[in-house]
Order: sequence, then structure tokens, then C-alpha cells
Amino acid sequence: MQLDDNKRKRNMLLYVLIAFVVYMVLNTFLFPNLQNGGVQTQDVNYTQLLDDLENKRVEDIKYTTDDARAVYTLKGEEGKVYRTTTMPTDADLTNRIQEAGATLKVTVPDRDSGMWTYLFVTIVLPVLVFFLFGRWLNRRMKKAMGDDNPSMDFSSGGFGGFGGGGLGKSGARIVASKDVGVTFKDVAGQEEAKESLKEVVDFLEKPQRYEAIGAKLPRGALLVGPPGTGKTLLAKAVAGEAGVPFFSISGSEFVEMFVGRGAAKVRDLFKQAKEKAPCIVFIDEIDTIGKKRDGSGFSGNDEREQTLNQLLTEMDGFDNQKGIVVLAATNRPDTLDPALLRPGRFDRRVPVELPDLAGRKAILELHSKDVKTEPGIDLSAIARATPGASGADLANIINEGALRAVRLGRTRATQEDFEESVEVIIAGQQRKSTVLSDHEKQVVAYHEIGHAIVAARQKGSAPVTKITIVPRTNGALGYTMQVEEDEHFLTTKQEVLDKLAVYCGGRAAEELIFGEMTTGAANDIEQATKLARNMVTRFGMSDEFGMMALGTVQNAYLNQDTSLTCAPGTAERVDAVVKQLIAEAHERALQALKENKFKLHELAHYLYKKETITGEEFMNLLTRENPLMPKTNG
Ligand code: ADP
Ligand code: MG
Ligand code: ZN
Repeated sequence: MQLDDNKRKRNMLLYVLIAFVVYMVLNTFLFPNLQNGGVQTQDVNYTQLLDDLENKRVEDIKYTTDDARAVYTLKGEEGKVYRTTTMPTDADLTNRIQEAGATLKVTVPDRDSGMWTYLFVTIVLPVLVFFLFGRWLNRRMKKAMGDDNPSMDFSSGGFGGFGGGGLGKSGARIVASKDVGVTFKDVAGQEEAKESLKEVVDFLEKPQRYEAIGAKLPRGALLVGPPGTGKTLLAKAVAGEAGVPFFSISGSEFVEMFVGRGAAKVRDLFKQAKEKAPCIVFIDEIDTIGKKRDGSGFSGNDEREQTLNQLLTEMDGFDNQKGIVVLAATNRPDTLDPALLRPGRFDRRVPVELPDLAGRKAILELHSKDVKTEPGIDLSAIARATPGASGADLANIINEGALRAVRLGRTRATQEDFEESVEVIIAGQQRKSTVLSDHEKQVVAYHEIGHAIVAARQKGSAPVTKITIVPRTNGALGYTMQVEEDEHFLTTKQEVLDKLAVYCGGRAAEELIFGEMTTGAANDIEQATKLARNMVTRFGMSDEFGMMALGTVQNAYLNQDTSLTCAPGTAERVDAVVKQLIAEAHERALQALKENKFKLHELAHYLYKKETITGEEFMNLLTRENPLMPKTNG
């Protein structure tokens, strides 16, 4: 608001300035004789004029009949001087001028038209320019600020009133059902979520049936899950299926500068919803207003609390037989105020989790429907390569693949396009501008082959599918991709330990071959430490602590950060155990590489030359017997 006002003032100033310049320009060009701009003038006595006439020095003289002033110039003067004088009504003057041989110019003013042109140009025109320019500015500003900002509306004088109930007031975007254009068909996977939302659809279609039996349907359902899993999409689909209006607003839109406006928006939103019932009110990112209220009176967050209170009141208030269902989405359910989750409010919780293998395949299929592809695309291979990807990631993968096909001048996307775009999503674009020195390239090659050999030499590791040393925009200088054969829901302790060893394989190879350390293992180290810490604090996989929970997960849907919930002394011991686990894994990785040192050399050189190799190439080379080499190497 403050900002808008300043901007407005600046604009006003600018517009006054421009109008002034226009005025000056008009004046100078149309009425040059009104100014003395640049021309020399001199006020002289009437006697001086008579004198000059006497001496025949006057070149020409001008006067207007109804004016007592005359302007004259002298002969042979360098740079004309306009002499102005006041004359009495002197009948003899014309004769004298004639005698003096000066040119006489008399103007009889056309009183009306002259006056009017003068008035028009000096007064009416500037005012008109002011007015038009002002209107144009006003319009432009309104467009820039968004039309629903009532305080910008100069002309209607609607400075910040909430009444009146115009549609724009609450900022809620109202989409009529036919415009939603999304149904359950557009949501792949998420079968359980769809199942529990079908009831909501049914309720919106025939509320009487529920009324007849005396059942109370949930007023609200809360969609919880990680970002990009399709929560917003599902909410729209419910409206689309039921064919009812869809009111959507994001939690952050309620948070306003002025105390009380957020609450007013809530009130307004529900007022509109009641008029349009049956309908769906969707509050996206509800955590922004629905955070737990804290007890302290000095929270400084009165506004948010007021908004939340208003929301709770509205949800209790509306007559549910009308068929208003409030859907909300969040990826921070742990921070929500318990009052929101009470029966009668968002009592139904619909988990929208990351898709599993089948779900990923379904989402890929759905999004690739509109993309022209070569026949025989294997989307399950892509689905297998993308554990942990959200629906939004998968949609992005398909689109990136199509974009790549266009970039390479093809009319159909290939399997390779999609595989490359998986890597783009995981690791960023290839960065051709990063030029590694020869030595650096070798180090990266050994590092990656180190990971791959450790992985291949352990039963519990997922097969290697690709190794590359092409730098990526996320900073990785190379990476080794491993893809599970099929979906895993449980991981054994042995598998976790194997994974730890694979993380250590890169650094181990560098040490073994070059006898030095580089910064290239930073990410591996981070991942390994996180995994080892989870083994101890969450998975109960350490001898020292056994099945003791030492930490809680802070927000399960965002970054899975764990905070320790143990005594400081215990935390120290946890660190010691984590250190021990990683040291052992490192030792095992080093051992595996020592046993395969020749293969390490051979494969690293091969990768160095080719830059990218497939899992098959890797396995062929690794298992190939080389008659020139001894079978085991130390
Ligand atoms: P959220 O609200 O959970 O963060 P969105 O609903 O905004 O996620 O999803 C973003 C996009 O990802 C959707 O527009 C859609 O293209 C795609 N998407 C996500 N989940 C799915 C799904 N289950 N089926 C199809 N598309 C999906
Ligand atoms: Mg969303
Ligand atoms: Zn590495």
C-alpha cells in the first residue's frame, strides 16, 4: 500500500511536469510576441519616438488600434532592438511616420477570434492535455496493480471498502465448472485419494440422499502430501467431476498488510460460496494461515490469527445441507493448528503421496499421450529410473524430452530423449562450458568407476545403468546412475550398508590411485552421513542404541530433516557411531577396489575416452576375462 502511494505520487509529479512543458512549448511557438524570449526590447519615452521620427531613424513601427503601445525598430542597427513605448492618441502621428519614411503596420484586432484562440491555447488545451494524460495514467496503473485493488480506483472513489460484495473483492478466483476442465481422468495414480474424494463428489451431486439418512458429511477435506504430487489438480478434479463452481484461493493471499483484511477476505469468500452453493472452496497452501497459534500475547501475528479464527467461524457457520465443501492442501500438516483438524472442520485427511512404480508409469503414460513419440517407447524403464519423483517431476520429464527432440530437429521423441531428460531433472543440463583439465577428467573417471565397481561387487546394490563424466549444471562433474530392478518398500540393514560403501567408493578410488583427496566427494559424504545417521537415530540399526528413537522427523513431506531428541551426551555417542559406520564402509569400498585394481584402471580409461557408458558396457568390461591379466589382483 505504502509503495503504491509513492508510485502514484511519482506519477502525478511526472504528469504535471509533462503538461508544463507542453504549455511552454505552445506558448513559445504560437505567441512569440508575448515573450521577450531571446529578443532585445527596450522601454522608451514617447518623446524618444518623436525624436527618432524627427531624425528619420525609424525603420518600421507597429501598433494595434485599441492598444496604447507601439513597437518600433531603428534603421541600420546590428541586432534589432524592439523599442516599446506608450502613445497618446495623436492624430498627427501617422503623418509624422510617413514623413520619416518608416513602414507603418497597424493591426485592428479581431476581438472575438483572437481572444478565443488565445484562451483556447493557453487554458483549455493544457487542461485537456492534463485530463487525457491523467486518465491514461490512471488506467495504466490500474492495469499494473490488478483490477481488484479497490484503492487504486480513483474514478469510482472506492477507497478500500469491503462491502458491496463485488466478485473481485476477496481476490478469490472463481472458475465455473466447465472452465475447470479437469476430471479424475486427468489424475493418474493416487487411486486411494481419488477413492476418498469420490464420496465428496457424490455428496455434491446429490446432497438430499445424505440428508435423508441423517448422515453428516465432512465439511472439509485436507489434502496432504509432498509438493508436486497433484493436490491442486485433485481439488480441481473434484469440482470438475461434480460440475460445481470452484472457488480457489491461496493461503498467502489472505495475508495482508492491514490487520483485519485477511479476515474480511475469508468472510467475503464464504459469502460468495453460499450464493453459489453447491460448490467447492479450495484453500491452497493452508499452512500459511493455519499455523499453530502460540499462547504468547505478543506474537505479533494478530493478523494471521484473526484470519484463522474467521476461517474456523465460517466453517462452523455454514449450513452444510447447501453443499459447500471446503478442500485445503498443504505439505506441512505437522504445523497446522489442531483446531483446524477437529471434527466438523478438516476432519478428513486425504494423503497424496509420491507415486509408486505403477503410479509413475501411469503418470508418464498420461502426460506422453499428447506427445508424438517413436513407436516402442518403454515408459516403465523411465518409471523405474525415477524413484522419488513427483507427478510434477514426471510431467516435466516428458516435456523436457519433447523439447529435446525439437532441439535436435526431430518430429518424434525417442526413448533416448526421455532418458536424457531424466538426467536433466536429476542433475541439470549438460554443461559444455565447463572444461576440465586432463588430470581432473581422469580423477572424475576413476571416482565414478570407483562407485560403480563397489556397487557391482556387492549383492545388495542396485545395478549400474549409466556412468558419465559430462559435467552438469548442478555442479556434478560426473555421476553413476543405479536403477533398482523393481520397487522396494523395505530396505535391509545389509542393503543400507552396501549403499554406504557405494557412496564411499568414489573417494576410495581417488585415494587408491592418486594418493590424494579432492573436493569432488562432498555430495557423497553428505549423503553417506545422512544415511548413517538415520540408521542410528531412526532405523534402529546400530548395536549401541538398538531400537531407540533418537530423533523425530521435522517435516516428512519436505526435506525429511531429523532433529535429535536425546541428551547432549547421547548425541555425542551418536556421532561416534555414525563415524564408525562410515569408516567401516570406506574400508570395505577400498578393499573392493584393491581387489579389482586392474579393472578399475581399464574401466576408468574406457570411460575417460568415451565420457558416457551404459550399464551394459560396464558389466561386459567388468566381467570380461582378460587372458593377459591375472585373475585376482592385489
Ligand atoms: P501440488 O498441488 O501437489 O503441489 P499440483 O497439483 O500443482 O501439485 O501438480 C503440478 C502438476 O504436476 C500438475 O499440473 C500435473 O501436470 C502434474 N501432476 C502431478 N501429479 C499428477 C498426477 N497424479 N497425475 C497427473 N499429473 C500430475
Ligand atoms: Mg499446489
Ligand atoms: Zn561420487
